[in-house]
Amino acid sequence: MKLYNSLTRRKEIFTPRFGNQVSMYTCGPTVYHFAHIGNLRSYIMEDVLEKALRWEGYDVKRVMNITDVGHLSSDADEGEDKMLKGARREHKTVMEIAKFYTDAFFADCAKLNIKTPDVVEPATNCIEDYIDMVTVLLDKGYAYAAGGNIYFDTSRLDKYYVFNDFAQDDLAVGVRDDVEADDNKRNKADFVLWFTKSKFEDQALKWDSPWGVGYPGWHIECSCISKKHLGEYLDLHCGGIDNMFPHHTNEIAQSEAYLGHKWCNYWFHVHHLNTNDGKMSKSKGEFLTVSLLEEKGYDPLVYRLFCLQSHYRKGLVFTWENLDNAAVTYQKLLTRIAALNPDTGAEPDLEAVKPYQAKFQKSLDNDLNTSMAVTNLYDVLKGKGLTDADKLFLLADFDRVLGLNLLQGAEKVRKSAKTAQSGTGEYRITAPADADPALAEEVNALLLRRYEARKAKDWAESDRIRDELSGRGIVLKDAKDGVNWTKV
Ligand code: AMP
Ligand code: ZN
Repeated sequence: MKLYNSLTRRKEIFTPRFGNQVSMYTCGPTVYHFAHIGNLRSYIMEDVLEKALRWEGYDVKRVMNITDVGHLSSDADEGEDKMLKGARREHKTVMEIAKFYTDAFFADCAKLNIKTPDVVEPATNCIEDYIDMVTVLLDKGYAYAAGGNIYFDTSRLDKYYVFNDFAQDDLAVGVRDDVEADDNKRNKADFVLWFTKSKFEDQALKWDSPWGVGYPGWHIECSCISKKHLGEYLDLHCGGIDNMFPHHTNEIAQSEAYLGHKWCNYWFHVHHLNTNDGKMSKSKGEFLTVSLLEEKGYDPLVYRLFCLQSHYRKGLVFTWENLDNAAVTYQKLLTRIAALNPDTGAEPDLEAVKPYQAKFQKSLDNDLNTSMAVTNLYDVLKGKGLTDADKLFLLADFDRVLGLNLLQGAEKVRKSAKTAQSGTGEYRITAPADADPALAEEVNALLLRRYEARKAKDWAESDRIRDELSGRGIVLKDAKDGVNWTKV
């Protein structure tokens, strides 16, 4: 598989360090509010990446943290603590907030068919690990104490700005104009590893440490949680593009200073979902959630399809019109699949399906070209020489990666068509779910006439009706106990 690697800034063949074992780390959510659909774009694309690797035979172990402590609302070390802000807003404790929004996050993920990673670790579980890493960084001279906090000394590294070309003395970096400078820092880019003196005297969660009672800086959790579960070497690290700096840059600084060798080989960053008036942001307070999409009548998987239709390395603009288009596409796709007969009892021809699988793999291997992978579903549906059993086999196979519930969705379409039909109990007529009701009624009547004609062995009449329908673009597919029709 070729993937764009943010570290080298080019597409590279993904090669894990140890055979087909892939260690994969994902920055998890900060659980002070619901995830917005922008956050979930990142998690959908990372989920597809994990599933694509598994589909290709890799043995993936994936770890995700849950940021339930110490994430400041500014990307520098200043600003407000996001968890505390959430707790104040809702008059709850920080741990109550964390539990509620962690559960809400995984509920949203389930609706979007995002698999829960093999290991999910809340940051508050690993205090000992942070203390250990900070101690080593101090011992090795990569960290210093100042004003009650422990800082990482970025000047000790040969190269700190791995993800961008900022000069070491660029004053604009790491400190935003609207936040006060931290006089304890030796270099502008230095960042906090452990706080004991913080602006937030009422910080709810604090732990004892060799440097006094306090709490960890934000970046240290990912370095430690990754090391704890995946060891000293990481193959693949994922996150949204905003995580590149300073978060991932600081993760690399800490981990490599601690380990004394290169840590992670491939960095996968998902670009943002934006609205017409800018980036979607949790801290702005107003944002779109999965629940809101559901309230408006959208199947969450329509949003998943919407994301798959564009490349993860391009910004994606969310509009209701775009989502409506995805909804129509999804419904049409399910309807076409519903027209395939799942009850033929035939086995798929494993030779015949191979070229289609190869084509699908080529899409995935081209830097996770998911829109092409979606197009491959239509290649299957149109596939000449493929039986319904072959097609259903391939659709189910591709759906292991795409996660669109294609076969279950098609079954629902079949069932709803079944209940909507006016035919006799012994003969079911399955119409496309989005069929115009007047047309459906007319086609239904003709099909019932055709059914009667066939029972009476009046083949001429039966063929005449088929031809009449075909002339109007209606394609029939006879099933065991009825007929499915679609309009081309
Ligand atoms: P957070 O909960 O704020 O730590 O963010 C969770 C994940 O969502 C991180 O990987 C972010 O990089 C990512 N993210 C944040 N905003 C967006 C957005 N508008 N579009 C896509 N991903 C985002
Ligand atoms: Zn992280």
